[in-house]
Amino acid sequence: MIDKLAKAARDPGLAWAWAYSRWMPQRAVNRSAALARRAGLRQPLFILSFDCDTDADSAVVGAMHARLRSGGLSPLYAVAGEVLAAAADDYRAIADDGAVFLNHGYRRHAALDPDSGAVTSTYFYGAVSAAEWQDDIRQGDAAIGDILGQRPDGYRTPHFASFESLRDLMTLWRFLSELGYRYSSSTRPLFGLRYGPFFTRAGIVEFPVSGCLSQPGQILDSWGLIRSGDGTSRRLLNELQGYLAMMETGQPGLLNLYLDPADVAADEDVLTMLTRFAPFTAGDFASVLGRAAHG
Ligand SMILES: [Zn+2]
Repeated sequence: MIDKLAKAARDPGLAWAWAYSRWMPQRAVNRSAALARRAGLRQPLFILSFDCDTDADSAVVGAMHARLRSGGLSPLYAVAGEVLAAAADDYRAIADDGAVFLNHGYRRHAALDPDSGAVTSTYFYGAVSAAEWQDDIRQGDAAIGDILGQRPDGYRTPHFASFESLRDLMTLWRFLSELGYRYSSSTRPLFGLRYGPFFTRAGIVEFPVSGCLSQPGQILDSWGLIRSGDGTSRRLLNELQGYLAMMETGQPGLLNLYLDPADVAADEDVLTMLTRFAPFTAGDFASVLGRAAHG
């Protein structure tokens, strides 16, 4: 709580968005819809990305990708460079199938306990110098180029909510811009509630990940809803069902969903639910912007 108050004092807008989403979730949802319209969206769109932070993610990513592709989806993958290098053949196979990769830094930022399957976060950009995290981003970029032959134009910071002061973010966006990047998806839903489904800073279009409809400030992801929840996918499925119902009414908006493969790849209910979003799939960030401009 002290930490929250300190953050609030530094960035009152963020505190406002947090309070809003906490106490008036329905109004926050309505506000998201209004901001989506203002951003030029005329239809519901869906972007799905997977963060691959451990070898447990690498072990399941190939089969999961094939299943989702046959269901009409084309997920993005944010893979830490060391994880990518350790399972190069698996990721090359899905890259050859058209998968697009986001630079997710180079160093591993999660440790997996092989016995329990527990995952611990290990490397935070907020805890190291700017020179160090910038080097990590450069190395992540090189890994995707060397291993997959792709030139990434999108980026995601390791760990949400740990590197999001406006000063850090501005430094990040400027740095990405210098490297020739165009997109970032590194911020929490609170940024979406403030600035909309995407917004441009320092030449980078930032796409905040989406929040839960029941609790718009809370990230809609498997980390929060499965791992830190009751271990089942029940809450995740409920939240996704809510989005699906809303999108089926045609309400403009962007669901920018990220999941961890190891948490969902064996869950047929989740995979089936995801494929129900296929009619709304936008593929990648560029295509969202294209439809916002021309839709
Ligand atoms: Zn990660």
